[in-house]
Amino acid sequence: MKIIMLGAPGAGKGTQAKMIAEKYGIPHVSTGDIFRANIKNGTELGMEAKKYMDQGLLVPDELTVKILLDRVAQEDCRNGYVLDGFPRTIPQADVLDKALTELGDQIDYAINVDVPDENIVKRMGGRRACLSCGATYHIEHVPPKAEGICDACGQELVLRDDDKPETVQNRLNVYHEQTQPLIEFYSAKEVLKTVDGTQDMKDVFAAVTAILD
Ligand code: ADP
Ligand code: AMP
Repeated sequence: MKIIMLGAPGAGKGTQAKMIAEKYGIPHVSTGDIFRANIKNGTELGMEAKKYMDQGLLVPDELTVKILLDRVAQEDCRNGYVLDGFPRTIPQADVLDKALTELGDQIDYAINVDVPDENIVKRMGGRRACLSCGATYHIEHVPPKAEGICDACGQELVLRDDDKPETVQNRLNVYHEQTQPLIEFYSAKEVLKTVDGTQDMKDVFAAVTAILD
């Protein structure tokens, strides 16, 4: 099963993608996580990506497409995957579509997690991330057991630089301009499913599994 998560930054794509990955036994592939791991390890790709990420801008397609295609070509993606944060532009979607078509394959579901902008700004301010293992928390909705410490690996939790209020608005503008057109793109391919992302995350997941089961 090949699934794409669509939605604004902070809509809950990563939260739902992790639950999907666990329930259906497929890898969770997040381009944001791949970039953050590269930044942490000080790679050239990471340094280049950081320039854009810190401003709330998209990393150029030339860099992003290659890392994604390399990742989904790995053995563990053979039976499917859930993509979180890719594609984010029509050219990215076209490249993915072409690569899959060459393999006689296609995306099965594009799940749009729908959350209005007003809710997003609150969610992003409360998000806390573990840059070590990629786990995500929310100070009100998903608090860690010990404040500021990752339950999974014990490392410190941080407010991502790009979750600061001044950057969140840029990211929302970028989303509306460059990523939202993908809703129409996947709707035309008849694989689009929309869920109400303002519900409690368990209810969002129930709506997601009702689609996938
Ligand atoms: P995205 O991957 O779309 O950027 P995340 O999955 O990281 O978004 O979620 C953004 C923030 O909102 C996180 O702090 C997460 O814990 C919280 N969150 C996710 N889903 C919900 C929900 N249904 N209700 C409330 N908070 C949520
Ligand atoms: P995310 O973790 O998905 O919220 O992504 C964090 C940031 O990484 C984004 O704001 C972009 O700067 C960058 N990024 C992640 N995925 C992509 C992508 N598919 N295309 C371009 N930039 C991306």
